[in-house]
Amino acid sequence: MNTTAVAYKEEFLDHETGHHPENYKRLTSILEKLQSKSYFKDLIRPDIREATEEEISSIHTLSYIRDFQKRVKVGAGHFDGDTPYSPGSYKAAALASGSGIVLADSILNGEVKNGIALVRPPGHHAEKHHAMGFCMFNNVAVTAKYLQSKGIGKILILDWDVHHGNGTEHSFYEDDSVYFISTHQYPFYPGSGAEKDKGNGKGLGYNLNIPLRRGSSNQDYLNAFTEKIIPAIDKFQPEFILISAGFDAHRDDPLGGMDLSTHAFEQFTDIISHKAKEICEGRIISFLEGGYNLEALAESVEAHVAVLRS
Ligand SMILES: [Zn+2]
Repeated sequence: MNTTAVAYKEEFLDHETGHHPENYKRLTSILEKLQSKSYFKDLIRPDIREATEEEISSIHTLSYIRDFQKRVKVGAGHFDGDTPYSPGSYKAAALASGSGIVLADSILNGEVKNGIALVRPPGHHAEKHHAMGFCMFNNVAVTAKYLQSKGIGKILILDWDVHHGNGTEHSFYEDDSVYFISTHQYPFYPGSGAEKDKGNGKGLGYNLNIPLRRGSSNQDYLNAFTEKIIPAIDKFQPEFILISAGFDAHRDDPLGGMDLSTHAFEQFTDIISHKAKEICEGRIISFLEGGYNLEALAESVEAHVAVLRS
């Protein structure tokens, strides 16, 4: 039996967004669903801490970090039209990135096999200099940098959120030690994610965009796994796998336009989990990104966690 850790803090609910698709009910729905399962008591709940300024600045500029700190002292506001913040948002965002770091430590110490960061705000759109697309700090990218600082030489990030993970792509576009793979609806927000974007400099060949047409099905995604994702993982032989797990490609999602069932997320997790066991001792950290239909989100995350712990 695997040991799986879940990173969650009440403070994630203090990132107040009002009537916005990315709101606190996403996390409370997920928690309620997980707590109804008999295996919930077996999940490890590590103590989460905030990522430090130094850790966050491995990805983001100090000027952005300081601007964020100043803004939340003044009150609520917006980074852009899509991205509101409240007084509790900085702490929530720092805890969200810190969750990945704590899970990384738990796995590296051998306390757990894998983990999931049930966090908000999400992270994969956040860019070096600014927040965007509901995202403040790029949680998956900060964690990849932390793993690098701990001597992990090859990290694979798989992003199956319905939107392209522009911030993550940019963070490692010239880095051959972090292989970024993204499946996403295309063309769609945020506009990036073309198949031709394959990395630059020594990172050329370490960025794999798999744009998919609106309405893509479980089978379309499974074909992408078989034909592109699995061969890329086999070739790269990562020491650690990070997942930007968005659930907004679910057919019931109000923002995405894809046709995935809940079962698809179980299948994706099963494929990656098997691959991780074969290649990197099962070491996976998954990060909650998007997913905006509360019921579909809770069910899909539960399906994902059930496989991670199996
Ligand atoms: Zn998304």
